[in-house]
Amino acid sequence: MVLLNRRRFLKASAQSATAASLAGIPGFRLSEAASADDALESNPAARIESWIKDYTATSPRNSIRNSENEKAWEEPLVGFSGGDDPIFKQYKEYVGPFHWTPLEIFQLNYPNQSVKEEELTVISWILPHTEAIKADLRKRTKEPSEKWIRARLYGEQFNEELRKYLADNLTQAGHPAVVPILSQHFKMESGGPYGMASTWSERHAAYASGLGTFGLCDGLITAKGKAIRCGSVVAKIKVPATPRPYKDHHAYCLYYAKGVCGMCAERCAGNAVSKENAHDKNACMRQCMTTMRYATELGLEGGYGCGFCQTGVPCESQNPVQA
Ligand code: SF4
Ligand code: SF4
Repeated sequence: MVLLNRRRFLKASAQSATAASLAGIPGFRLSEAASADDALESNPAARIESWIKDYTATSPRNSIRNSENEKAWEEPLVGFSGGDDPIFKQYKEYVGPFHWTPLEIFQLNYPNQSVKEEELTVISWILPHTEAIKADLRKRTKEPSEKWIRARLYGEQFNEELRKYLADNLTQAGHPAVVPILSQHFKMESGGPYGMASTWSERHAAYASGLGTFGLCDGLITAKGKAIRCGSVVAKIKVPATPRPYKDHHAYCLYYAKGVCGMCAERCAGNAVSKENAHDKNACMRQCMTTMRYATELGLEGGYGCGFCQTGVPCESQNPVQA
């Protein structure tokens, strides 16, 4: 009789489950899927990054679902931060006491798992908009473009699927994972220093993972600019943290770094950004809600989007401080 220890059993189960799962994904061959677990154990950063990039490149769901079936997203950026990074406790002060540490959201999802914060990793990614989507909104000043609203609606649906895909792959490979913003516990709370905020911020996870800093309008400026969306997963796996190549949370914004620009304030359609008061979240939310009616007129029920501050500005597609 052959006895399998728990680790070998998990590994064997994970390989067959992952193979079955990946077999349905365009662009994947079973031979690749069969080696998925070994690749993850030997170089987790590279394996996770390739999962995220390959899924974005090959999934038919990366689409704004217009007649041309244009892509929503270019190749992602990927970064990692440790579950024991002190920055996550600092977020309780900067975002609100309700903002989860990686350990808190992991334990909410896996109450029976014994885990230490240093055993967890936050995996974060940036999905950059395509040039066609950015160019469409760049020309506009009042109503957002149809492509932008489609990208906000269908592109974010793809982002949700990417979060689940990554969490499923990791969990099946023996590394339990949770998608914080899809957790049943995720919610908006008041009582933070900037009013309403969520229990997990994708942009703050990205900042912690070395992917960018905040601009005058609060958007995250990355190496591929600010016309982006972010996603993240918390997993019980050790991955080396990505260095944060900045000391200041506004390092990539021209206004804070050099005292110039302010174009996001000029472009803002809702008077929600100013050099004096930075970003007014309530005014921004009101403006975004007004676009719902316009989205419905376009036949995009449930869609909305603004984003004038993300296009036609120096930080749209690059870090302007290093440009
Ligand atoms: S448009 Fe200018 S001021 Fe606004 S976030 Fe970008 S770099 Fe900063
Ligand atoms: S999303 Fe719209 S309303 Fe909000 S800051 Fe940007 S341009 Fe202004």
